[in-house]
Amino acid sequence: MTTTHGIGAVRPENWAYDRAPMIVYWELTNACGLACRHCRATAMPDPAPGELTLAEVEHHLDSFSAFGEPQPHIVFTGGDPLRRGDLRDILHAAARRGIGVSLAPAVTPLLTRERMAEFAEDGVQAISLSLDGSSAELHDGLRGVPGTFDATMEALDAAAEVGLPVQVNTLVTDVTADDLPAVYDVLRSKTLQRWSLFFLISMGRGSQLNELAPGKAEQLMGWLGRLGREAPFQVKTTEAMQYRRIAAQAMLKAGKTRDQIEASPMARGFGVRDGNGIVFISHQGDVLPSGFLPTAVGNIRDTPLVDLYRDAPLMRSLRDPSAFKGRCGVCEFNLWCGGSRARAYAWTGDPLESDPLCPYQPKVSA
Ligand code: SF4
Repeated sequence: MTTTHGIGAVRPENWAYDRAPMIVYWELTNACGLACRHCRATAMPDPAPGELTLAEVEHHLDSFSAFGEPQPHIVFTGGDPLRRGDLRDILHAAARRGIGVSLAPAVTPLLTRERMAEFAEDGVQAISLSLDGSSAELHDGLRGVPGTFDATMEALDAAAEVGLPVQVNTLVTDVTADDLPAVYDVLRSKTLQRWSLFFLISMGRGSQLNELAPGKAEQLMGWLGRLGREAPFQVKTTEAMQYRRIAAQAMLKAGKTRDQIEASPMARGFGVRDGNGIVFISHQGDVLPSGFLPTAVGNIRDTPLVDLYRDAPLMRSLRDPSAFKGRCGVCEFNLWCGGSRARAYAWTGDPLESDPLCPYQPKVSA
């Protein structure tokens, strides 16, 4: 049983997305002109062999109707999705089927104002752009290509001019954390809808960088929670689900009931985590619980996405907090939070283990 909550979003009453994900992250290619130090996709200058063809993409878009209504939203990502010569055909194919899409392009010379105007025309609901530092020196150092900071500033301005909503993604590591207030100041001078802070998981090129220590992460999320109440855009986290627990604790302390918390705007993302409300399709059709949890449960060339999402044993267990181990297994916030299954896997090899980024001690001890 589900209740509608927000535009096109379905909020399951038990916070388990058993029937359909909220978002499908679809990696159209792993080709990219950047060489980011933390790249999840370990992107390459040229496309890898075996990418899904346009005909295959269309075929799998047809299968989305099996999820029922509303259909999941797709974020086309990469690599750089602009490296697909048939990107516009793919966008049109999704639009013809009534599927909402966003795009996660890399900031390279391919991302022109004209392309952004085209995206808006083609019904792309939003794009995401990365900003990992408050200056050219800091941002370009992580992105691996000089000039990317200035190009990102220009892209933000161009998106605002053509009316394309933007989410800015920022990497959180031990080397970027102290710069985040300055990044916020940069963003306040721009037009964006959402700032999403991605708490690094050591994988791909990201393994050369360090995650924050749990105490520092907790402190930072407290600051983000306070910032979220006054920022001119929404503030959210990626792979730091305990941000919800911290926000809920603040609301409980302020006298709110659980019902009031669940009815509040912050509850929109409750429960959503790797494999629960999220699924990832690789450029070759592999299906993963998320882009950060590198354990394929099958391939859409062999099995329909809807079957893999609903029935793969790993996906089922990721949706069941009672299967979690350690503190996450007994935590009174685990339906709303549940921790990063990807980080648990990266650190222990077991995606059901506790999220090592979270220092919270549940009321019932593990
Ligand atoms: S212990 Fe696990 S479920 Fe509880 S708040 Fe921390 S990460 Fe979330």
